[in-house]
Amino acid sequence: WAKESGRHAVCLFSPDIDHWGAQRLKLRHEIRPAIEQRQFVLHYQPQFRVADNAVAGAEALVRWQHPKLGLLNPIAFLEIAEASPVINELGAWICDEACRQLASWNRLGHTLIMSINVSARQLGNPALHEMFAACARKHGVDPKFIKIEITESMLSQDVSIAEAGLNKLKEYGFRIALDDFGTGYSNFTYLHRFPVTALKIDRSFVQPIAQDAKALAMLNGIISLAKAINLTVICEGVETENQREALLGTGCDLIQGYLTGRPLVAEEFTQLHLTNVRK
Ligand code: C2E
Ligand code: MG
Ligand code: MG
Ligand code: MG
Repeated sequence: WAKESGRHAVCLFSPDIDHWGAQRLKLRHEIRPAIEQRQFVLHYQPQFRVADNAVAGAEALVRWQHPKLGLLNPIAFLEIAEASPVINELGAWICDEACRQLASWNRLGHTLIMSINVSARQLGNPALHEMFAACARKHGVDPKFIKIEITESMLSQDVSIAEAGLNKLKEYGFRIALDDFGTGYSNFTYLHRFPVTALKIDRSFVQPIAQDAKALAMLNGIISLAKAINLTVICEGVETENQREALLGTGCDLIQGYLTGRPLVAEEFTQLHLTNVRK
């Protein structure tokens, strides 16, 4: 095939690409042992309630402390993990660890909602709701303090399994947020069809609002629509004070971004964001 398609195809087999392919394969095989060796770690990013500026929640964001490659962000390994069933094991570890941390914050007297991302392949797993329920039970946390973040692109895949699983999760009392709204088709029928309780508006919609009146008008429109169907609205990617100020008038419930807090390890999160309520 390479010969037939001529010169361009040769690139597919160039040493660099081949090296990358081998690197991906290697990483994929390293994931399962890495879970056992506790090389994965969760960072937590605060979500602030606009009404009183309190920390209302935290989003768990996975990192891989790789022994040779250093600290890896999800972009470096998540897609690789998602291409194999190992994502279910990683997802189960993430859920367990996030619930354990939430329980530990609860014991210190902090009430907050933990947001946990799930991937497309996890949504296609018919045992997903049981996994979440078992985690919550194990750590003694009420599902209403756990918010599962899904993205629109996942919903177009295995719709019937995803829909059944999400309905079960909602029945159990978990919250469900539609993440990255504004990056895909922003299909409103998903909001209607799936048992979503929150809408998370992507930074590409949020960041222009300080300088762009049309962007602000659009954001206001999306937020009123979301509020009309009783969704909690979270704006993500808030990086500047101007963006934050512009958001205050939109009626959004929660804000999340580098301005108000970067993702941190649990100890740093506790020190920086939870100390005022401690003791
Ligand atoms: P996401 O769920 O939309 O998470 C928000 C991402 O935006 C995070 O990147 C976060 O660090 C980053 N972010 C937060 N505030 C700002 C800001 O003000 N400006 C900018 N430019 N970025 C900001 P991160 O941690 O690299 O995660 C990337 C994506 O990887 C996540 O997007 C999510 O889709 C996925 N992901 C992360 N952790 C997990 C996980 O535990 N499980 C699964 N399935 N997916 C995860
Ligand atoms: Mg998310
Ligand atoms: Mg997002
Ligand atoms: Mg994202």
